[in-house]
Amino acid sequence: MVDVLALGETSGDGLDPITGELVAAARTLGGSVAVALLGDGLAAHGEQAAALGPDSVLLAESPALDGTSIDAYVTAFEQVCRSASPGAVLVGKTPLGQNVGPRTAFRLGAALAQDCTAVRRDGETGEVVASRPVYGGSATAEVAFTGDAPPFIVMRGRVCEPAEPSPSTDANIIRVDVEIAPSDIRARRVESVKQDIQGVRIEDASVIVAGGRGLGGPEPFERLREIADLLGGAVGASRAACDAGWIDHAAQIGLTGKAVAPDLYLTVGISGASQHMAGCSSAKNIVVINKDADANIFQEASYGVVGDWRKVLPAFIETVRELVT
Ligand SMILES: Cc1cc2nc3c(=O)[nH]c(=O)nc-3n(C[C@H](O)[C@H](O)[C@H](O)COP(=O)(O)OP(=O)(O)OC[C@H]3O[C@@H](n4cnc5c(N)ncnc54)[C@H](O)[C@@H]3O)c2cc1C
Repeated sequence: MVDVLALGETSGDGLDPITGELVAAARTLGGSVAVALLGDGLAAHGEQAAALGPDSVLLAESPALDGTSIDAYVTAFEQVCRSASPGAVLVGKTPLGQNVGPRTAFRLGAALAQDCTAVRRDGETGEVVASRPVYGGSATAEVAFTGDAPPFIVMRGRVCEPAEPSPSTDANIIRVDVEIAPSDIRARRVESVKQDIQGVRIEDASVIVAGGRGLGGPEPFERLREIADLLGGAVGASRAACDAGWIDHAAQIGLTGKAVAPDLYLTVGISGASQHMAGCSSAKNIVVINKDADANIFQEASYGVVGDWRKVLPAFIETVRELVT
């Protein structure tokens, strides 16, 4: 039995950053921490996960865990959970975590909280409490769990400083036998189309430069790309800009887009509707360029410039260029 089980994720030959973040979040709950890795051929990944400092790494390997069927991952994770009997389960708000977490929780009859930004134990009861932004980040809900099954918590990315790998670790690497029958697999991905991404992925970016309807067209996004490239960041957008076809929907931040938590979120021509703020309220610093001093987004801003981006942006880009080159 482990106190907290985190669903780790792989990315090519390495681990997805969410793995270290979940280990760090699990540590805040105290007790023993295990990382589960699901896949095929995980020996090297297991060592990497062990270096993050959990008490154990649970490797569930099967040829069926080849990335083509979420059903296989749900079946495997259910078996890992039943074998480890965790007191709480953390998964990332990633394509894998968002699919596997809720479906596994359902199979175990467990309560689940989505889109959480922090977890803690109640000082008196010792029970797990999760925090999640609500009303577009204007308030925080504290979620407590009922029932005998372990609470499942879906954690946003980049809300915890990831656990740092260390060469000296005494984590046990344990193989968990999982059985995935052909009848467990009801849906399989038959094709995947890789989308070319310029620069860093928006989910991983520590700097995001986001544009909205106030940009007036697709061309100004090239200016935002300039700033993003200078700062090693990614370009995001409001839904209005995506709906207008100025930028791909993959860049959309918000309730129906991506939830991000960069160190710096620079917005240009975005009004700050609650549905947009739902996706960026965890940003550490929000910097705003908007010509309307009453725009809602200024309420969330650490720094802001009231002005037309056409006048503000050229000097801004030059200053950033001078500072970073
Ligand atoms: C169910 C639902 C889900 C939604 N999900 C999302 C979501 O995920 N993400 C999202 O973003 N929205 C979402 N929306 C839409 C949301 O309500 C807003 O309509 C949208 O965010 C507005 O985008 P915007 O800020 O770019 O545009 P606007 O609200 O039109 O704001 C444009 C801003 O640009 C400023 N501006 C104009 N010209 C200039 C200039 N020259 N220089 C500087 N500033 C200028 C204006 O002052 C204004 O503040 C959703 C809505 C619904 C109903």
